[in-house]
Amino acid sequence: MPNSSIATMSLRLYNTRTRAVAPFQPLTEREVRIYVCGLTPSAEAHLGHARSFLFFDVLRRYLAHPRNGYHVTYVQNVTDIDDRSIAAAQAEGTTVEAIIGKFYGHFKAGMRTLGVREPDLEPHATQHIDAIVDMIAELIATKHAYATDDGVYYAVKSFPHYGELAHRDVDELLIGARIAENEHKHDPLDFALWKFAKPGEPSWPAPWGEGRPGWHIECSAMSRELLGVPFDIHGGGTDLIFPHHENEIAQSESLMPPHSHMANVWVHGAMLNFDGKKMSKSLGNFEPLTALLARHDPLAIRLLFLQTGYRKPMNFTEDSIGAASSGAEKLRRAYDALTAVNGTGANAELDELVAGANVRFFDALDDDMNTAGGVGVLFDVANAAPKIVAANAGAAATAARALLEDALGVLGVGELLTRDVVVAEVAAVDPATIERLRANLGDAVSFNGESPAESIALVVEARNAARKSRDFALGDRLRNALSAEGIVLTDGKDGTTTWTVSGG
Ligand SMILES: [Zn+2]
Repeated sequence: MPNSSIATMSLRLYNTRTRAVAPFQPLTEREVRIYVCGLTPSAEAHLGHARSFLFFDVLRRYLAHPRNGYHVTYVQNVTDIDDRSIAAAQAEGTTVEAIIGKFYGHFKAGMRTLGVREPDLEPHATQHIDAIVDMIAELIATKHAYATDDGVYYAVKSFPHYGELAHRDVDELLIGARIAENEHKHDPLDFALWKFAKPGEPSWPAPWGEGRPGWHIECSAMSRELLGVPFDIHGGGTDLIFPHHENEIAQSESLMPPHSHMANVWVHGAMLNFDGKKMSKSLGNFEPLTALLARHDPLAIRLLFLQTGYRKPMNFTEDSIGAASSGAEKLRRAYDALTAVNGTGANAELDELVAGANVRFFDALDDDMNTAGGVGVLFDVANAAPKIVAANAGAAATAARALLEDALGVLGVGELLTRDVVVAEVAAVDPATIERLRANLGDAVSFNGESPAESIALVVEARNAARKSRDFALGDRLRNALSAEGIVLTDGKDGTTTWTVSGG
């Protein structure tokens, strides 16, 4: 653990609320509590959602890495009731649970494919209605909220710090704000805490009337219940700063002692544009995450995101994944090449080069999670690998391999170095193909809702495992089942297996 008497560099983060980069200080020693706003699974998740969650996954890994050594509690909620999921259920003649279950299942499968770790806690709003109702009751009792005949609203004028997070002035916000005809709030900026149910809508009992919670109060109530306030880091995409996070602050901090904050640091990930445009359901310009991941190497996508700083808006094109794929292969080849070094000797110049790279990699992460700089350092190491090999410099090779393992582990792409199946860039796999593989091979391979590419990778892994344990009959059966679907395996000299879809 870093000794406080020694001046060491340490993690610095940009705080949206103060608009400054500052050294990260946990509220409780050696412990970090994080709340990140999760998905509203009323529709398919897209790559823009993935970018944000992937960044928080890396932040979480780095906080827990021995260099920082924090025990991290990571909460990411699920907004499993809202106007859009109710509308989607009505449109499809099904229940809100079925809509949420479907889209959340797809999202989770996508997160697993991308190597995003499971949250420690994943509270669903509908399972925390008591905490939400309690908080609304406290807000009404303290005159921060009022009931009308269509619901309960938060009184924005009751909170003097409103606008502080988004750095916006209440008067400026009022310009353009208006009360819609069907709302009964007192002031245009007031927002709903509780919405009374219309006939046929899902609802829960409350002292003011049957209904459902508004989106903002869910996060305030669940973060307070599960982490306690104040907690260390509140995260989300920049699109959530206003009004969602501003409203969370108003709700939570109205019930806290004056001048105390619900979260110590507010961290926001920038948006992902698709071919220059914002990804959105209404623009219809995105492909569901699971479909996109079936066509591309998820580790290449991870690497691609890491090569842009989390606070920079990023433009996604399919071509950029190709470049990231070659980058991923370059790192893996360098790592393998370093294995071949059998010398044990020191080489002052190369030893220094690797030691310097180690320092620069972690300095980059300390600098407000500059993953782009960090990945750049790893490419420097890959570029130096041929020199290390040529000099047969054992100490440098060992140190370089250790750095790649450690660094890629923090970035969540450590699997690059060890995987023996390279997921090929493939044209869309016919879903019927996957259905048949699952039906025919269910006894030999445990499928569990993976994407098509993952399902195929599972079969390839099972086939390689069978060959390793000399069960050639099973190995052949699995290979034949794939080839019957036009999926061709190529075993590389380095022990990797790639697959392609013939004629695809
Ligand atoms: Zn939230």
